[in-house]
Amino acid sequence: MIAMELTDKTLFRSKSFVNGEWTSGSRNNTFAVFDPANNQEIAQVADLNVEDTKKAIEAAYSAFPTWSSKLARERSTILKKWYNLILDNKEDLALLMTTEMGKPLVEARGEVVYGANFVEWFAEEAKRIYGDVIPNHAPGKRLITIKQPIGVVAAITPWNFPLAMITRKIAPALAAGCTVIIKPAEDTPLSALALAELSVRAGFPDGVINVVTTNDAPAVGKELTTNPLVRKVSFTGSTEVGKLLMKQCAGTVKKVSLELGGNAPFIVFEDADLEAAVIGAIASKYRNSGQTCVGANRFMIQDSVYDEFVDLYAIEVASLKVGIGTDSGVNVGPLINDKAVTKVKRLVGDAVEKGAKAIVGGSVHDLGDNFYQPTVLSGVTTDMDIAKEEIFGPVAPLYRFKSEEEVIKLANDTPYGLAAYFFARDIGRIWRVAEKLEYGMIGINEGVMSTEVAPFGGVKESGLGREGSKYGIDEFIEVKYLCMGGI
Ligand code: NAP
Repeated sequence: MIAMELTDKTLFRSKSFVNGEWTSGSRNNTFAVFDPANNQEIAQVADLNVEDTKKAIEAAYSAFPTWSSKLARERSTILKKWYNLILDNKEDLALLMTTEMGKPLVEARGEVVYGANFVEWFAEEAKRIYGDVIPNHAPGKRLITIKQPIGVVAAITPWNFPLAMITRKIAPALAAGCTVIIKPAEDTPLSALALAELSVRAGFPDGVINVVTTNDAPAVGKELTTNPLVRKVSFTGSTEVGKLLMKQCAGTVKKVSLELGGNAPFIVFEDADLEAAVIGAIASKYRNSGQTCVGANRFMIQDSVYDEFVDLYAIEVASLKVGIGTDSGVNVGPLINDKAVTKVKRLVGDAVEKGAKAIVGGSVHDLGDNFYQPTVLSGVTTDMDIAKEEIFGPVAPLYRFKSEEEVIKLANDTPYGLAAYFFARDIGRIWRVAEKLEYGMIGINEGVMSTEVAPFGGVKESGLGREGSKYGIDEFIEVKYLCMGGI
């Protein structure tokens, strides 16, 4: 029982959180949450329905006038308290996350800090939401803009970063003066509920933060995207669901932010520092067992350094330790569930059938059905399914290329545009390639680039809007223009 292993057992919450109260919902139903390392049930969590969701929306709507009219400094102080509480409880939050999601504990601790950093950053930004005074266009007038919170925000989040995807959305929303309803992924509700528990201790008034857990995401999602009281939907997840939610939001013209899927290229040019490229490639690919939206999905290696890179890379991949996330020294944990493993098996099977070769791994790991071996596939070509789909597993497909022009075309040949990486030393090439890649984020001689201080987001079918940084709060604000005459 996971609750027994926590230092602070009250961080284990299995009811939803609506209007400052823990609730089982009107039907008193629950759904099971499993540990992906052993498929054992770890919790029965409240399964809320549409009626309960409406209540959460109404609670957020009622709490909005009071929360939005607090001084920015008052909101900032509560956010800072929450930040400190998240860090004070880092170990428990990390253990909960590893248990419900599978990532190695060291990565879970990293996510707690990463997630908390958004709370601290936006606690500071809360005090800096400035309007403008515009030089007037006619005598006797004064033109001003003020910035106001948009209203009730629905945040729908995925399982792969169960804590940081929530704080990255709701910290700027709360800082701006919005109130929120969080719909966490069915696989990972416990991290969201623990965050809610800490928000109570931080002093957020009732109704400002609500968490609706459910195993009927389509129905609850429909309510969140069509209810006129909700003014903004911020979603992180698959492109398919993102498109559906965007359509649903059209009926009430809600503001929408979408952080969707990717198909990241990782390019190694012949002038690259190959050892640095290998380190970057390992971090970008195998973090979170390959289940990251910004993770390298296609490795493109220039012909003249292909063999050397592959030899170095294969040695490093083969030495990665696969295991249960709570065991020490583990680099790669289980995948989230059997569906994820089935997808990876299908993509590797198709690639091998069409001529690719698994030079490391290539099959399910002996540890159990949800574990997949860290894998390197050489000789991958663009006719294989793995070239087009998000792998979301610990598999690195390697492509060969000859020229800069060719690789840019190959890298951009996808509807996605989230993250791209390349390794090179030539300064002219670095500028040319960085400007031509059609992606929202580019790692140059870097395999990991997420931070609260920089804008996170994609172009094309990878999304709309930016999270984090000085831009992140704009997603939750309306600019109002005041024109004063008769002066
Ligand atoms: P998903 O299936 O799209 O689910 C994401 C969230 O949407 C979950 O809370 C899910 O609930 C909910 N959902 C599913 N169907 C819905 C519907 N019809 N209406 C309303 N909500 C619905 O994605 P996932 O498998 O959890 O996450 C992996 C995907 O997220 C990958 O494509 C990855 O690239 C992307 N991602 C993107 C970013 C980014 O910042 N760009 C970051 C992380 C992940 P249930 O879980 O209850 O079904």
